Amino acid sequence: MTGFEDLKLIDPLLKAVKTEGYESPTPIQEQAIPIVVTGRDLLGCAQTGTGKTAAFALPILQRLYRGGTPEGKRPIRALTLTPTRELAAQIGESFSAYGRHTGLRCAVVFGGVGQAPQAAALRRGVDILVATPGRLLDLVYQGLIDFGALEVFVLDEADRMLDMGFITDVQRIVSLLPEKRQTLFFSATMPAQIRSLANNILNDPEYMAVAPPCSTVEMVDQSAYFVEKPQKPDLLAHLFKNNELRRVLIFTRTKYGADKVARHLTRNRVRAAAIHGDKTQNARTAALDAFKRGRVRALVATDIASRGIDVEDVTHVINYDLPNEPDSYVHRIGRTARAGAEGAAISFCDSSERAFLADIERTIRMHLRRELGHPHQSPKTPPPLTDLESRVGSRPSKPAGARTPSTGARKHFRGRRGKPKSASGKQPAK
Ligand code: AMP
Repeated sequence: MTGFEDLKLIDPLLKAVKTEGYESPTPIQEQAIPIVVTGRDLLGCAQTGTGKTAAFALPILQRLYRGGTPEGKRPIRALTLTPTRELAAQIGESFSAYGRHTGLRCAVVFGGVGQAPQAAALRRGVDILVATPGRLLDLVYQGLIDFGALEVFVLDEADRMLDMGFITDVQRIVSLLPEKRQTLFFSATMPAQIRSLANNILNDPEYMAVAPPCSTVEMVDQSAYFVEKPQKPDLLAHLFKNNELRRVLIFTRTKYGADKVARHLTRNRVRAAAIHGDKTQNARTAALDAFKRGRVRALVATDIASRGIDVEDVTHVINYDLPNEPDSYVHRIGRTARAGAEGAAISFCDSSERAFLADIERTIRMHLRRELGHPHQSPKTPPPLTDLESRVGSRPSKPAGARTPSTGARKHFRGRRGKPKSASGKQPAK
């Protein structure tokens, strides 16, 4: 098995990955690091959750460290552009963690918060900048940013940039960068517009594709609780009596619903916070931080607010309201299977949400395990699944058409966390 030593990383980085608890590189790191250290451009088809950040951050840190720190004010030598504030903050944290023994400085700039501390950091000088496009352009137009010394440019989640309408901003930013640079381009999907953007900004790139560590639907223990709307709060409080629900992400359809659920949990002495678009960026960051540090046990979110949240060790995802889009369901439950770890997803389903459940099950090609006999069960609960149906839904059988895990990824991530049981403490039916 390849170790980080085999990737010819310098000691300060080897020490840092050890501190992070990484035992061996993930498949994307194994593939990308040797390419990036040579200075070549890279087109990577890879998702968040595969270890992508370290795959680009480690070789960038190595390059800058080896280049030595220039005299005087430090010029920006590496820029990472990413679509969301949350991702920017996470990538910045990763650069700081992996670079903790290098003396290199990293700053993060994104909108929705005051600009003064970001501008002050830029005035002091940084080696590495992580940014969302809008705020970066604001700072450029104010003359606070000079890309004259830029060596490496990373475009992260390019397809999401497109979805979120940032492509013109990205193009504008690229036009400000020196022609002679190394460019690393990552996207989970490669629609035509993204391929053409890649063609324009990459120079003879190496191409690399990494499947997600494992199809999410296989890794997550998924169960459905039939409960009518008025009883949902009581069922939620009941579930939280189980200590295995340590770090729980709860999804509601509306912002109002998110606040209401958080208040209800707090009244039931469960530490909870809500995160949604009506909260200020500072309130969102504080809630996310409290959740990451384990100061709150439950984070209640709407779909939009949850984008890009990468919190390790989310033990359970609860769909307080079922989404009407099966894709949102897959996205939501993916929050508990980060980096190939296993997790549990609990879905509340009232009579009006039955059709959503059917849609989801059709899409993921398996049945959610029915959790029957709980104290708040709906009188309109449908009949139990047949033996055959429940076998299809039991873990770890692979649903027809599920993606094959990339080689090594699943094995690699095994054992990072114990297997969570279902909320009721029972192991899923075999
Ligand atoms: P990313 O795809 O960069 O968002 O990384 C997903 C998660 O995997 C993060 O929580 C990282 O801390 C974690 N991770 C990255 N590389 C490794 C590794 N080599 N071993 C174990 N965990 C890792």
